[in-house]
Amino acid sequence: MAVKEFQAESKRLLEMMINSIYSQKEIFLRELISNASDAIDKLYYKALTDDSLSFHQDSYYIKVTADKKNRELTITDTGIGMTEEELEANLGTIAKSGSLAFKNENEMKDGHDIIGQFGVGFYSAFMVADTVTVYTKSVNSNQAFKWESNGLDGFTIEPTDKNTVGTEVVIKLRANTEEENYDEFLEEYRLKSIIKKYSDFIRYPIKMDVTVQKPEDDDKEELAEVTEEQTINSMVPIWRKNKNELTKEDYEAFYAEKHYGFDKPLQHIHLSVDGAVRYQAVLFIPEQTPFDYYTKEYEKGLELYSNSVLIMEKCPDLLPDYFGFVKGMVDSEDLSLNISREMLQHDRQLQLIAKNIKNKIKGQLKDLLKNDREKYETFYQAFGRQLKFGVQMDFGAHKKDLEDLLLFYSSKEKKMVTLAEYVERMPEEQPYIYYATGESYSRIEKMPQTEMVLDKGYEILYFTEDIDEFAIKTLMSYQDKEFKSVSSGDLGIESEDDEKEEKAEEEQNQELFAAMKEILAGKVKDVRASKRLRSHPVCLTAEGEISIEMEKVLKSMPDNQDIQAEKVLEINTDHDVYQSLKDNFNKDKDKLTLYTNLLYNQALLIEGLSVEDPVAFTDDICKIMV
Ligand code: ADP
Ligand code: MG
Repeated sequence: MAVKEFQAESKRLLEMMINSIYSQKEIFLRELISNASDAIDKLYYKALTDDSLSFHQDSYYIKVTADKKNRELTITDTGIGMTEEELEANLGTIAKSGSLAFKNENEMKDGHDIIGQFGVGFYSAFMVADTVTVYTKSVNSNQAFKWESNGLDGFTIEPTDKNTVGTEVVIKLRANTEEENYDEFLEEYRLKSIIKKYSDFIRYPIKMDVTVQKPEDDDKEELAEVTEEQTINSMVPIWRKNKNELTKEDYEAFYAEKHYGFDKPLQHIHLSVDGAVRYQAVLFIPEQTPFDYYTKEYEKGLELYSNSVLIMEKCPDLLPDYFGFVKGMVDSEDLSLNISREMLQHDRQLQLIAKNIKNKIKGQLKDLLKNDREKYETFYQAFGRQLKFGVQMDFGAHKKDLEDLLLFYSSKEKKMVTLAEYVERMPEEQPYIYYATGESYSRIEKMPQTEMVLDKGYEILYFTEDIDEFAIKTLMSYQDKEFKSVSSGDLGIESEDDEKEEKAEEEQNQELFAAMKEILAGKVKDVRASKRLRSHPVCLTAEGEISIEMEKVLKSMPDNQDIQAEKVLEINTDHDVYQSLKDNFNKDKDKLTLYTNLLYNQALLIEGLSVEDPVAFTDDICKIMV
């Protein structure tokens, strides 16, 4: 019989399972039971929507059987089964493709991280098995098939006899070693406790043959050992349980079982709503950003159940994009089972649920921000960027929902602050909320443009992410205070006297600035005396809607190559350099050209922009050295 090879990525994962020294090998049972439950869900759903299939509730179950003599553990289910093609595709290829790509080689070595954080599915059986055999018959096929593998060499598929629809996974346990006693997975008490721990809320009965002591006869005292089939799990789904009876660990177990993330949830939200719309939901805010989160591969959505039957694995309409990081499930008895994806979008009940959920998430985040700042900052670290996208999205339609959830780094506090905290501290005469944009906090700290605002004792918010300034331009104001970039033309700080003085100064030097503007033709819109510089000789600022930082961001996008900020070169007229410009204006036009270009290039560098002609720039520097 032909042995087929595993797909390359599967092979890697399999190798990790086989060589794993992971301590919690028991999770393999959780994975296999979860697959069994998924398979029954699929059949259950099909039966509900397909009249040709009629099943009785009792015909749905999972059974775990231990055979001590042969050291075999079998997980049987009455689910949908697999066809030959499905066997090959599902068990030969890793479904979560790409999931390994983000892990570095070190983490890969013993697979500890992957297994612990990720939930690895079917292959986890190889942590305890020498050989795994799968007997399965699909509801869509008359022929049953057997799949078998003893690891890396590959797998075989052949026809087999099996009368009932469903799947049986047989695990031939590995030989015991000094460190590892695989026999424990044949012990009744051990299996029972693993099932209780990880799979208690599985909706279908997980049965086991259990040895019990029973009176041999009704009127006799002696007890005899008899085998009895018992259901081990409580079968109440977690979302139907009372919150007060559940622990943090219960929610974490559910999160892991569902593979909602490879981390632990930062926060869970358990909702049981009984009003205009009835639903239950268990939602999670993950702790870490999923590796593919900010890519187009990431799909947001919640699992959607109708009366405990899964009808959609990822319903995107339940979550606004800006809360797309939330994981979890919603169950509502008010939704029809047969509803199609297209219909669902327009379903009033669903829209109500979605709106309700949005408000609950917002409420939970506000609550965290207020009562557990550290946890909120962890959250914000992972998903703050998403909230800022949310502000900008749909022309600012959601900004009122989100503005109070934003955090920015403060020049004053040297930590993240909310806009409310900023405004609260603002001196009465301060006209604007100031911000500065740059690559990093340390770079912004050195920006000449911040000098004047800081001198005034005003707080500046530091924007280091691409999205920041765009989001703030959409927000426009907070509590009626407008935002103002420290690089913008008018900072609104100058006193009238100052302004008069500047005017006079400017008139005096009009000719000089006109000459410099001429030298920099096409590069800057204007050359001016600066009102904001204290110690630095020059800086660049922008007029109009597009700031220099925005130009950088927009230019990095393919369609916006020729977007330009209207740049203004500002000269500090109190600086010695200025005197030298003035002197040369009357004496030496070549020197003026040289100095003007140098100053312009310096200003570019300070802004984090590249110098257009580096060779000419260094030549210019040489000229002043000799
Ligand atoms: P996942 O459950 O995340 O999809 P697994 O590795 O656990 O990944 O399983 C791979 C696939 O194999 C499943 O998606 C399913 O299609 C199939 N499968 C596994 N176990 C069963 C089963 N007991 N019955 C039917 N299909 C199964
Ligand atoms: Mg699985």
